[in-house]
Amino acid sequence: MLIANRGEIALRIIRACRELGIKTVAVYSEADRYSLHVRFADEAVCIGPPQSKESYLNVPRLIAAAEVTNADSIHPGYGFLSENASFAEICGTSGLTFIGPKPESITAMGDKAFAKETMKKAGVPVIPGSDGIVSDFNDAKRIAGDVGYPIIIKATAGGGGRGMRIVREQSELENAYRTASHEAEKAFGNSSVYFEKYLEEPRHIEIQVMGDRFGNVVHFGERDCSIQRRHQKLVEESPSPAITPEMREAMGAAAVKGAKSVRYLGAGTIEFLLDKNKNFYFMEMNTRIQVEHPVTEEVMGTDLVKLQIEVAAGERLKKVKAKPEWYAMECRINAEDPAFDFRPSPGKIVSFHLPGGFGVRVDTHAYAGYEIPPYYDSLVAKLIVKAKSREEVVEKMYHTLDEFIIEGIQTTIPFHKKLMRNEQFRSGIFDTKFIEQFKFKD
Ligand code: ADP
Repeated sequence: MLIANRGEIALRIIRACRELGIKTVAVYSEADRYSLHVRFADEAVCIGPPQSKESYLNVPRLIAAAEVTNADSIHPGYGFLSENASFAEICGTSGLTFIGPKPESITAMGDKAFAKETMKKAGVPVIPGSDGIVSDFNDAKRIAGDVGYPIIIKATAGGGGRGMRIVREQSELENAYRTASHEAEKAFGNSSVYFEKYLEEPRHIEIQVMGDRFGNVVHFGERDCSIQRRHQKLVEESPSPAITPEMREAMGAAAVKGAKSVRYLGAGTIEFLLDKNKNFYFMEMNTRIQVEHPVTEEVMGTDLVKLQIEVAAGERLKKVKAKPEWYAMECRINAEDPAFDFRPSPGKIVSFHLPGGFGVRVDTHAYAGYEIPPYYDSLVAKLIVKAKSREEVVEKMYHTLDEFIIEGIQTTIPFHKKLMRNEQFRSGIFDTKFIEQFKFKD
């Protein structure tokens, strides 16, 4: 298997392959020569200069690397080409099994406005908004009026928390609409936007699903990702403190129904927003393994990456009872300085001491002496902790963070420590706006 990715997720996939007896090929850019994924793969191929466009996003080079190494499958990880339907298609026509859904399912879910239509047709509740894209300003005025302010403008080709704009009243609409379209064009090469009702104080709750080649789709319960900064996740946990077993069942059933409607194969995530009245609405589907998948693995006792590979190889899924017996939480340790508005802090890690103990897991590609390149995302490590209750998890997380020593760069560890000591966070009652009000600095 060729792993078309880098960092901790490349290493995570290599681990699954080793256990399954699958030989691996790592690819790397010139900036990643000394990364652990290169070291632990059976073979490694340099695919170009540091810039992602020239390396991890360079389809011809990836396919050539697979051909020279005789790989017969490609795992895209997350980010990069993982949600690129044409890459999945090219893998297929080159005789390589793409570890992920069929290109048609990626297309159906990749266009966010279209995905909402698909889900709505499948009977899944969606956030009220425009039916599809908003094509001109006259349309925009009419639709925003119908939906009712505040609205959120989203890029249909968007992702990663980017390309969104909140509009609170009509006087702001024209400017916001034009800027959003322009920014979407610049960032995603597609200026199309759609509107949604902007939900005040929602929680972000997502359902992990998996589909096999026989049309079976199962779900593994939820992850609560309401701790976000600028629409990007910082902490994820499961089970969600905001939902009941009945709600889990209802959201799980909706997610399965949605995934089945696009004949979904492999690992995927259906993201919902939960409003104050505990109504849930489909927001989008991610057609890949996600950063926060270990939270579900710990709670459910399932290796999702192995399962992803097995279903791609034609194995049939067994029934899953999404009844979590454990409690798990993940903190994203980024090379960012929380004291200075989370500004990036790449550079050389001088010392690196990992925490340990019962219920502690660290997924990382970093080590003492490793240099974090400035070219890619800032994730250094994922710290995942599990215990029998949320209270115990938060307490354990605090002490585990305290044991995690990274010197030479600034990280988000101090931020997470402060969060674990915050009363509101500990109460479990918060929403996606919580971090905006949370003061790291006093
Ligand atoms: P991306 O794919 O870029 O991550 P999402 O559509 O998943 O974007 O949204 C990311 C986050 O933005 C959500 O978790 C939520 O916090 C916020 N958000 C998105 N849509 C809405 C909405 N309609 N109302 C309130 N918040 C929203």
